Amino acid sequence: MTVLTLSAEDRHHGDLILVNRSYPLHGTALVRRGDLETQLMAADPAWPEVLLARPAALALQRAMRDLGAEGKIVPVSGYRSREEQEKIYRDSLEENGPEFTKKYVALPDRSEHQTGLAIDLGEGGAELDFIRPSFPDDGICGLFKKEAARYGFVLRYPKGREAVMGIAYEPWHFRYVGCPHASIMAEKGMVLEEYLEYLENCADGLTWAEGENLAEIRYIHGGENGTEIAVPENCPYQVSGDNREGFIITVWRRR
Ligand SMILES: [Zn+2]
Repeated sequence: MTVLTLSAEDRHHGDLILVNRSYPLHGTALVRRGDLETQLMAADPAWPEVLLARPAALALQRAMRDLGAEGKIVPVSGYRSREEQEKIYRDSLEENGPEFTKKYVALPDRSEHQTGLAIDLGEGGAELDFIRPSFPDDGICGLFKKEAARYGFVLRYPKGREAVMGIAYEPWHFRYVGCPHASIMAEKGMVLEEYLEYLENCADGLTWAEGENLAEIRYIHGGENGTEIAVPENCPYQVSGDNREGFIITVWRRR
């Protein structure tokens, strides 16, 4: 066993952080700590101005290649700085009024786009609306929706869940949470708020089989003065904060 020492601040970083009205971004929290340039890359090489956190960008590019979606699905909006989010909110208030804006645009520091883990996708060829791009349920967009979880993405604001999330149905907004979390959320029909709560209440953790591998997932509460977590020495693992009060530890083992 190796013991990791995590700080209170580490709770606010990682692929599984929850960012919503109740849990705003912490400081300048991006996905990981460190400098911006090395963490962001083009979501699609053909659209170099739309950026995502590296693991999310690589997963999205792989999905687009595998599904033959290059050029047919285009990235509309990825990473946004706080200033950009502020401007989008202000402009939308002016152009669309408060009711629309509250429904579709998150307040600064409450937007997942500031994490670099969220991407708005649109159907290529269509004239793209920046706030509500067209992303139909059929054709190549439907195929992406169906396969997204395999690449670590979830449809973040699904139909009928407005009450849980305070954001309207957004068929175009995908969030990278990584594997196998996206598959588990898809299979259980849980949104991120529900998934984190579920993990927190799984006293013995959760084991998930994927091909040859088993993922062991557990939730650990983090302390204000740091937290020690034991992880096995010879297995790959991943630690993510949840931006609430704890950590999700994912350990991979061979079956
Ligand atoms: Zn979005």
